[in-house]
Amino acid sequence: MNYDMRSMRAEEFINDEEIRETLRYASDHKDDLKLIDKILEKAKMRKGLNHREASVLLACDNEIRVKDIYDLAEQIKKDFYGNRIVLFAPLYLSNYCINGCLYCPYHLKNKNIPRRKLTQEEVAREVTALQDMGHKRLAIESGEDPVNNPLEYILDCIKTIYSIKHKNGAIRRINVNIAATTVDDYRRLRDAAIGTYILFQETYNKTEYERLHPTGPKHDYAWHTEAMDRAMEGGIDDVGIGVLFGLDNYDYEFAALLMHAEHLEAVHGVGPHTISVPRVKKADDIDPGDFDNSLSDEMFCKIAACIRIAVPYTGMIISTRETPKVREKIIRLGVSQISGGSRTSVGGYCEEERPHDTEQFDVSDNRTLDEVVNWLMRAGYIPSFCTACYREGRTGDRFMELCKSGQIQNCCHPNALMTLKEYLIDYAAPDTAKIGNALIEKEIGSIPNEQVRKTVCQRLEKIAAGERDFRF
Ligand code: SAM
Repeated sequence: MNYDMRSMRAEEFINDEEIRETLRYASDHKDDLKLIDKILEKAKMRKGLNHREASVLLACDNEIRVKDIYDLAEQIKKDFYGNRIVLFAPLYLSNYCINGCLYCPYHLKNKNIPRRKLTQEEVAREVTALQDMGHKRLAIESGEDPVNNPLEYILDCIKTIYSIKHKNGAIRRINVNIAATTVDDYRRLRDAAIGTYILFQETYNKTEYERLHPTGPKHDYAWHTEAMDRAMEGGIDDVGIGVLFGLDNYDYEFAALLMHAEHLEAVHGVGPHTISVPRVKKADDIDPGDFDNSLSDEMFCKIAACIRIAVPYTGMIISTRETPKVREKIIRLGVSQISGGSRTSVGGYCEEERPHDTEQFDVSDNRTLDEVVNWLMRAGYIPSFCTACYREGRTGDRFMELCKSGQIQNCCHPNALMTLKEYLIDYAAPDTAKIGNALIEKEIGSIPNEQVRKTVCQRLEKIAAGERDFRF
């Protein structure tokens, strides 16, 4: 099997031999400071790096060069994403699952956990609770079970979620994290106006993949790995990829993740919209210690920095699987979206206390959304509830164009300020509102275009007077 980034066959675009050759190359050159400087110079052009170049940076442990990598990642993040952080929450619809994934408590053989699937009335109640927190963007999650959670069920849930308008609340973007499916199903998801289709590869190592997914439809490596091509064929422009770090060696996964991004760009003309970097967590009958490839917080942050440098235009997502301390560090190095106030159980948002019985994994950041918003602002970020891009048709390469043209400061930045203003009026605690209003005042000045600045000021007044949902 030869490496071919343009091939539509999983084992050719994620080629094991090419990955192993890359790792050898990275290891052989990890002290080659001349080469590392050349790669860093290339990265400074903001055009990204290929998987080989990025793997050399990941392997490099020269203290000064590692600091250069971190500084560059931080600078690229500032240049492309400013100080905005987009917020979202996961919504678990069903934990029925017919797969046998060894790391996930929803696996078929787990009889400890009650199986639950939200009715449409329950979806409405969950969404109302999420709106009352201030969320505007959700990622829906479900196990794979064609009988209990067929696509029709997912589509019904999407319809329900978009239909709930509670007080000033609304869910304006639904990202979807469900199992790999057919082109036809992806087309139906596209027609249901989803935002990003997200599917984690878990591990790119085929042998490990098959061992970790011993039974169920997810066992099929090619079906899973080629899913994003089918999603794009079905008209979904924005896809989100990711690895479940801890399952296999991080350097193998890192190289393969970038090869996946290169493949999507080469074949479809646009790379992934987002990259997620989840790590395996403790869960009902799952002990992360069973997977001996866990990686240190330090290496985890280095991976994020190298991703930021390698694919500057791709958003990066970090969830509440990580502690506030790790989140603070990694956000600085390149993360653009985080979840907040998350419950990872089916029906969890309607409960007073965080329920554990149907939980998919243990949450390490237990703060409320308001606490997360407050914390972000104190750390110098603008929490954003913006959902404008896909609603304005800026998906796929049109979004990438916006990034590359530098117009983000006249577009995403004002949208962040206006959606933050809505949050402060409708949901924030008094202290959060005070900090936020001062931040908005200060940040208006950094909108470069005078006309846009004027329009933002007028719209902020209208928001204060009760109008909602302005966007550029
Ligand atoms: N069922 C869908 C599929 O087949 O891809 C995805 C939905 S699942 C609810 C979302 C993700 O949670 C999985 O892709 C996996 O990466 C992650 N996950 C599963 N078990 C986990 C654990 N113990 N710790 C952290 N993340 C986990």
